[in-house]
Amino acid sequence: MTTAIATPTPELAAEADARFEGITDPVEQALAVLTWAGETFGDSFAITSSMADGLLAHLAGRAVPGVNVVFLETGYHFAETIGTRDWISSVLPITVHSIMPARTVAEQDAEHGPRLYERDPDLCCSLRKVQPLAAALAGYTAWGSGVRRDESPSRTGTKVVDWDAKRGMVKVNPLAAWTSDDVDAYIAEHQVPVNPLAEIGYASIGCEPCTRPVAPGEDPRAGRWAGKNKVECGLHT
Ligand code: SF4
Repeated sequence: MTTAIATPTPELAAEADARFEGITDPVEQALAVLTWAGETFGDSFAITSSMADGLLAHLAGRAVPGVNVVFLETGYHFAETIGTRDWISSVLPITVHSIMPARTVAEQDAEHGPRLYERDPDLCCSLRKVQPLAAALAGYTAWGSGVRRDESPSRTGTKVVDWDAKRGMVKVNPLAAWTSDDVDAYIAEHQVPVNPLAEIGYASIGCEPCTRPVAPGEDPRAGRWAGKNKVECGLHT
């Protein structure tokens, strides 16, 4: 990889979004966006992964070999998710960075009481996801996520290249226009590692206490924070 060669700006993001939005083939579009990000920002570009599958990491490894992959190790993950992280990092040409929160679960329990995720999930997500991601991304100027428009109503407006005003960074969403059929086809063709929980109904996978399987036809993210007035952890809003 090269060193950073561009300064991130809203104008740079808007110009790139207009250019790549016109590519209709989803794989071609994703690879074009990732290649551009790698060439434009060099080592200052990273993607994130929840380890629900290795789709974005697979594409990023093709476009930007050695790309940095940020994984938020909240301390509440399913064992299958940790296994998927290790699987992906061992078979793809990527560099996984597991980011830990400032406090262990035990330390958080001591400070805020046990099961904070039940009483104040926004604070729990802030402490274990949002703040650690902010710290992890401080060393980068552009980042990428696997957010897709068809995942939930809150994500329908996702751009393939956006300006992350909160962090002052370019944010790429190479899978924004992908459908679940596109995802399934790519995973099957390239034998991409998938979290085994997907086989038993976990369409969207987060922390174990806040994730349940969904029924066929149900919104894929309906299993996240079910029963609570919460649909996003704050990483993408
Ligand atoms: S998803 Fe649940 S357990 Fe994980 S950080 Fe958010 S509130 Fe806490």
